[in-house]
Amino acid sequence: MSHPPYPWQREIWARLCGTHREGRLGHALLMSGRPGVGKSAFARAFAGFLLCESPQALAPCGSCRGCLLQTAGNHPDYALVVPEEDAKAIAIDQIRELIEFFTLKSHYGGPKVAVIEPADGMARAPANALLKLLEEPPSGAVLCLVAARADALLPTLRSRCQRIALDKYPATLATAWLEGALPANQQGEAGRLLAQCGGGPLAALALVTRGGQGEQDEVATLMAKVAAGERHALHAAGDSAHIAAGELLDAMLRAAQDQVWRQYDCTPVAAPDRVLNGSGNALNLRRVFEFMDTAFEFKGLLAGGTNVREADVRASVWLSWMQAARTRPQSGRG
Ligand SMILES: [Zn+2]
Repeated sequence: MSHPPYPWQREIWARLCGTHREGRLGHALLMSGRPGVGKSAFARAFAGFLLCESPQALAPCGSCRGCLLQTAGNHPDYALVVPEEDAKAIAIDQIRELIEFFTLKSHYGGPKVAVIEPADGMARAPANALLKLLEEPPSGAVLCLVAARADALLPTLRSRCQRIALDKYPATLATAWLEGALPANQQGEAGRLLAQCGGGPLAALALVTRGGQGEQDEVATLMAKVAAGERHALHAAGDSAHIAAGELLDAMLRAAQDQVWRQYDCTPVAAPDRVLNGSGNALNLRRVFEFMDTAFEFKGLLAGGTNVREADVRASVWLSWMQAARTRPQSGRG
């Protein structure tokens, strides 16, 4: 792994290494940024840097005991806490295990480091247990909390963390990287993809490589049909049943965002084949924004690990879209 993992992270990486060198690194770091900015890789790489026994200024040495154990995935002073198997969120038992991990002395006398991801989808009980740990951090402990939305964390948790915002970087670095990573038939598309996906460079690349672009077009076309009254919401829910609910929500949000841009006439992504309202009439933007709020709420429900059925989410989000898209601006009465 290179350090930092991605070129757009160079500045924040250097700053964090400097903070560490000066002994000003906190016990808890909150690494946040929207999907696809490389939070995971950043957190894991920084954990590796902390566990290196003879680090250079900006990178681990790669050959010491700490580096070798970390690369092999079995450093005894490192804990990676991620949701188990099909679970969407970290469970209370996992935080209890983490607390136990920190009660043991460091194996090699260095720091004990944990990466906790995602930190923003946790239920109340594990979040409170984690808070207890942060309130009385064991000496030498460094906890890296990874979150797409820092503001979704308990304020009491958030206030105990040093904030590392991974969202802020020069767009040119991201575009250049993505351009280099795109397949030959997508060359020159980096800027458009980044604008369209609403996420970081990795999200944009994933959209292309998993064929998400086809899925995106499919969802947008279906949204246009529902908006034009050619297809009912519940039929659309059936038509899109092969798409995981989370990905469907993302695709619908991207398409709605596209529509907003188009209507504001600042269309970095103008694609005439995907105009949602088909007829050429504008949609009621206030209702489109309401729809987007609803879609975000559904995303939260799914991420929260609560017991929601994907089929119900799919039906509800399509109904919500039908309501929003069939209200014309002149007749929009909220
Ligand atoms: Zn090393």
